[in-house]
Parts: sequence; C-alpha cells; structure tokens
Amino acid sequence: MITRADVEELDRADPLRSFRGRFAGVDDDLIYLDGNSLGRLPVASADRLHEVVHSQWAHGLVRSWESWISWPRSIGDLLGSTLLGAAGGQVVISDSTSVNLYKLAAAALDLRPGRTTIVTDAGNFPTDRYILAGLASARGLRVVEIEDASLADVTAALSDDVALVSLSHVDYRSGALSPMAEITAAAHDAGALALWDLCHSAGSVPISLDACDVDFAVGCTYKYLNAGPGAPAFLYVRNDLQAAAQQPIWGWFGQQAQFEMGAVYSPVESIERFLVGSPPILGIALVEAGVKLLGEAGIERLRAKGIALTSLLINLADAWLAPLGFEVASPRSDAHRGSHVSLRHGDAYRISQALIEHQVVPDFRRPDLVRLGCSPLTTSYADVYEGMRRLRDIVSSGRHLDIELPERRVT
Ligand SMILES: *Cc1c(COP(=O)(O)O)cnc(C)c1O
Repeated sequence: MITRADVEELDRADPLRSFRGRFAGVDDDLIYLDGNSLGRLPVASADRLHEVVHSQWAHGLVRSWESWISWPRSIGDLLGSTLLGAAGGQVVISDSTSVNLYKLAAAALDLRPGRTTIVTDAGNFPTDRYILAGLASARGLRVVEIEDASLADVTAALSDDVALVSLSHVDYRSGALSPMAEITAAAHDAGALALWDLCHSAGSVPISLDACDVDFAVGCTYKYLNAGPGAPAFLYVRNDLQAAAQQPIWGWFGQQAQFEMGAVYSPVESIERFLVGSPPILGIALVEAGVKLLGEAGIERLRAKGIALTSLLINLADAWLAPLGFEVASPRSDAHRGSHVSLRHGDAYRISQALIEHQVVPDFRRPDLVRLGCSPLTTSYADVYEGMRRLRDIVSSGRHLDIELPERRVT
C-alpha cells in the first residue's frame, strides 16, 4: 500500500517540484484539487500585470497601443508553438471560448453549404452544446448528439450531410481524451470539418493541431494556463482555410487597414480576421506570463506528471474509496485520460461540500461526480494523498451526512 513516505519521496524526486513555489497561495493550508476551473496565480503574472498597468498604461497611455495591437497574434503564436503544435499565424487570443466557438462554428458551416447536420456529443460542455444548438436553430440545421466523443460514435454519425464535428479534446467531466487525429481524419473523409475545444487539454496534454490536420480549435486560458478569472480565450484556424472562412461578427479588428476607418467591411486574409473588437490587453499579458511558465516546464514533463498524479489518485481511490461506494468515472488507461479524475458517488454533492469544509477544494459535477484536478505545476503528490485521505475519512465517518442538501430549484 502507498504510504505518506512514498508520496514524499515522489515529491522530492519530481523534476517540476521547483515550479510550485512560483505560484501564490501554495503555502496556505488548502489542498487545491479543483479540476482547473481556475488555475492558481503565478507570482510572475502579478508582477507582469503591475508592470503593464503602472508603466505601459499609466505612462505610455494610448501610445502603448503601438505594441499592444500585435499582442493577440504574437502571444497567440507563442501559445501555438509552446502548447498547441501550431505553426505561426494560426492562433489569436480573443474573446471567450464561447464566443470563439460561435465564430468558428459559423465560419465552418458557411464552408459546407447544403449540409444540414452538426455532430457533437451529449456530454460536451454546456456552452458548446448551447452554441451549436443556437446556430442550428437560426439556420434550420440539426444537431446530432452522439453518446461519446469516440471514434466509433463519430464514425457512426458521419454522412455526406454532416457539415461539422465539434467535440472537446478532454471531457470536462470524465477526463476522457478523444483521439483527435483519427476523428479529424474521419470527419474529413466524410467531407466535414472538425472544430476542437481544448479547454481541458491546453497545458495538460501535448496537442498537435497542425499534425492532426485540425480545421478549427478554441480554448480557454484560465484553467491549466493560469491566466486568471475571465482571461481571454484563444482560437486556431488552419492556414489554408483562413482566406475562405468568414466569421459572423464583422468587427473592425478584422478589417484591412483598420485605422483608415473604411466605409465597408473587408477583412484581412490572415488569422486577424477572426478578431472582433479591442483586445483585453491586461488579460492577454497574463496569458503570456502563464504560457511562458508552462513552456519553461515543458509539456512533455507536464504530461508525465499529470499521468503520475492521476494514476496515484486512481490507485488510492481503488484502495480506500471503492469500499465506501465510490466508482472511478474516468478512463483507467493513462493514454486515454487528461489531468483530472472524476469519482462517482450518490452523495457527491454533500461529500464535495464536506471536503471544502476540510480545506480540500474539488469540483462537484451534477449529479453524482466529485471531480479532482491535478495541475502538474502546482499539485504535489502529497496533495493528492492528503486530499484522498481526508475524503476517505469524511465518508467513512459519515461526516458529510451533516451537510444540508441544496433546495431543489424548480425551473
Ligand atoms: C471551461 C470550458 C468552457 C468555458 O467557456 P467560457 O466561454 O470560457 O465560459 C467551454 N468549454 C469547455 C469544454 C470548458 O471546459
């Protein structure tokens, strides 16, 4: 059986161990296993924000736009080369994941006129499903929701009527990692386009957008990229699609010779055509700081530690929690799992609340999942061990039963 001494040894031998000290709050008496709904604050990011605010904004004022104007693309390129396997000129930082998904799904549908089906999976993140449903409703199309974002389910749903396949790379609940290359190739064989949501994979799993021949991708930066609450998202459009793909929000940041304030919208042919309005500069500065930190750690090392942390968690769940009625609701195979693990239990809500009372922060995912995230830069092996120990002790002593159930909302 794994002991406290074993995990302490794993932490001592961890090649990424020095990164933990570069985040704020790691010395708090808090075990942060939030599935990266919000990554921790890098100390360098707070410094960088201070500099941009107190120097560039305070003194540079509007003149600072001379450099700021190129940030959506230059920092998009940095993100693309560091973490997404994307050559330059295909990634920009802009808007939110939701808005980017709307822009790129609409562009994709316009590239496949006459086809009337969008394929996604029933377990996809709500905003993804809502946005696809909204587009389908506005355009008289239909959404087919397959059960899993698996190659078998996608293949079964494909036909010459499918315009777009839109899936998450890592499932936000189960942590299942979808085979991006195979699914993209299958979509292409059927004449459809593929749009991937990378929210839970960017920064946790190596991604090769170019090598997988992906058409479109979106993702957020506040989870594993540690860019902070509401930080701007990113989007990717493959080079050879850019000139033909037109996004539906015709803003002036996509316009040729933007500052000539021309009478008619005529977008640039490059990736900037997917920008809309004034970019959130402070947020983009934080994206840069986060990406640099992850780049320094290296995605291969991050992935190796993510696998090690989640396997430790699964081993402890088998040993300590299975007898208490828990079930591992994430793939057991390392190659098919991102960096979080969900545990299923009928009392997941009360257990999650009790964990928070005992200084362990998980995510509760309706109806019966406790989601535990392992962020390779900031989660230690001892965190996983201690978090699981408290979870076991809470449930075995029945302490969670003291928590009041939430009132049912009738909507
Ligand atoms: C977190 C997350 C989002 C969030 O979208 P926002 O527009 O940033 O609120 C979208 N999709 C997935 C898969 C996510 O995990």
